[in-house]
Amino acid sequence: MDDLSLLIDFHKDAARQGPGSEAATHMAIVLAGLTGTEALDIADIGCGTGASALQLARALNANVTAVDFIPEFLAKLDQQAQAAGLSGQITALAASMDALPFAEQSLDVIWSEGAIYNLGFEEGLRLWRPFLKQGGILAVSELTWFTTTRPAALTQHWQAEYPQVAEASTKMAQLEQAGFAPIGYFPLPRECWLENYYRPMQDRLHAFLHRHHNSEAAQAIAEAERAEIELYERYGEFYGYGFYIARKVAS
Ligand code: SAH
Repeated sequence: MDDLSLLIDFHKDAARQGPGSEAATHMAIVLAGLTGTEALDIADIGCGTGASALQLARALNANVTAVDFIPEFLAKLDQQAQAAGLSGQITALAASMDALPFAEQSLDVIWSEGAIYNLGFEEGLRLWRPFLKQGGILAVSELTWFTTTRPAALTQHWQAEYPQVAEASTKMAQLEQAGFAPIGYFPLPRECWLENYYRPMQDRLHAFLHRHHNSEAAQAIAEAERAEIELYERYGEFYGYGFYIARKVAS
């Protein structure tokens, strides 16, 4: 099995493929001022197996197009949507987030948890903004420095992995420059990483390695995940995901 297939195999049975929680998604819905009293067309970009897509459809009675480029994740999402009686509201779309097939000004809301980094924050804002109606809502979580000073080793790590990591004030300015008015921000609480993402990951590691007969490639993935967890356990007070909620304005 190649590395991508192994990664898919490791993550497809998880409830979420990144840090987050139902409470955080709810908080972002509230900050966005979304109530579900009007019909809403929402795109959830980089939806994974669909934790937030399912919640948005349920909470807002919205039509959600859930986009990811991994069909195995979308298949899981479809199963869950069916089990929850939400299939009529959720359309799974296999597409790359840099080539989305939406019409200009067709969406009320663009949602994306733990995924815009695949394009880079600013490029994501630039590419996705045209799909939103004027006044439409953007809600994204993005890697953020929580302090202005931090251990050098940590700065070096994220500068190498994701050079766009920055303080919330910088991300807010980027939103403004890209034609959005920020209307809310909060840092994802620790349990979004530890209880909801890393612990379930640790629980899956043993069976994953067993399933792949401790292959070198599987061990390398396990090692990388362990290192990521260790980094967060050690330095999680300095970085994490910020949730940014903004409105599209004239630019
Ligand atoms: N929003 C989900 C998943 C976050 S993980 C959650 O919070 O649980 C990031 C997701 O982005 C993965 O599901 C991955 O398959 C998807 N992804 C990464 N690059 C992508 C791209 N270029 N186009 C579409 N999806 C992509």
